[in-house]
Amino acid sequence: PYDECYVKSVIRTVADWPEKGVMFRDITPIFKDPKALRMVTDDFIQRYIGTDITHIASIDARGFLISSIMAYHLNLPLVLVRKKGKLPGKTIQADYALEYGTATVEMQIDAVGPGDRVLIFDDLIATGGTILAASTLIKELGASVYEAAALIDLPDLEGSTRIQDAGIPVHTLLAYE
Ligand code: IMP
Repeated sequence: PYDECYVKSVIRTVADWPEKGVMFRDITPIFKDPKALRMVTDDFIQRYIGTDITHIASIDARGFLISSIMAYHLNLPLVLVRKKGKLPGKTIQADYALEYGTATVEMQIDAVGPGDRVLIFDDLIATGGTILAASTLIKELGASVYEAAALIDLPDLEGSTRIQDAGIPVHTLLAYE
């Protein structure tokens, strides 16, 4: 069964990375620990069995790692939300603000379409900007967002609240204050 204490013991906190003042929550040890990976992935899979989700939209790059396992077990199509310049063919883009400067995410125009109900998945929600930009693209392609899910929420940064205020339900497994 899912054991929050165990998963939290596996996630590593790196102070002052990638810059001073940031407490970076490093999920890479989860992929090195098959028990933790199975716990978190199974928990997400169980939540979405039997729903009417049609696609999982997975965010570059750590989001890919768990959501591809989810897509396999839920027998759902996986589509990618990538950082600018990584996807070939026709794409649409959305810019969003970072603490310093801006970032851009992209999707291929045939990724999803009208009538689709899309689960957005990323590893972590900080300010919520990445997931909100992804939801802009999904809606621009005519689809709707079923929910946004992430392994970790940083509630102090209020991203999950911003996403919910935009009308998108949020599901996370762990929070770090
Ligand atoms: P947001 O757009 O501000 O919500 O930031 C979320 C994005 O930044 C996600 O794609 C995360 O992978 C990444 N991110 C921000 N802070 C952390 C962290 O502490 N650990 C891991 N990823 C982070």
